[in-house]
Amino acid sequence: VERALALIKPDAVNKADDIEAIILNHGFSILQKRRVTLTAEQCSDFYSEHYGKKFFPSLVAFMTSGPIVAMVLSKENAIQQWRELIGPTNSTVAKETHPDSIRAFFGSNEQKNAVHGSDSVVSAEREIRFFFPNCIVE
Ligand code: ATP
Repeated sequence: VERALALIKPDAVNKADDIEAIILNHGFSILQKRRVTLTAEQCSDFYSEHYGKKFFPSLVAFMTSGPIVAMVLSKENAIQQWRELIGPTNSTVAKETHPDSIRAFFGSNEQKNAVHGSDSVVSAEREIRFFFPNCIVE
């Protein structure tokens, strides 16, 4: 089994119970869960790969605008499975191309897209350590 970090972003945190039910219905285990409000510094660190991009300041403003829910998901092939379940980055696109995806259901646009998912084993390890420093990643 593999682990992935999932985030429920501020725009969807009031739908966290629905999203968690979908996660469990798709056979994921939720190993860890934490509700947290990031500071701008923490958020900039988490999204450091996007530093300098045009959307970076507004991404940080959005992601620090309220609480988020961080979860460690576990399943066979969890990283790819979770990214398939959430759909394309842009929720406007997701509504057209992947209407059953979480980003289509709960997101709004290219920024307010409800959820995050790790995109590789390396980033999953980093992201899980970021939110759950005591969690052991095998
Ligand atoms: P995530 O990392 O959240 O799963 P992703 O890998 O699909 O998303 P990235 O390209 O890593 O997308 O972008 C990180 C986040 O930055 C996106 O999820 C979205 O909230 C925001 N974002 C990406 N592109 C844009 C954009 N062009 N304008 C505004 N916000 C954007």
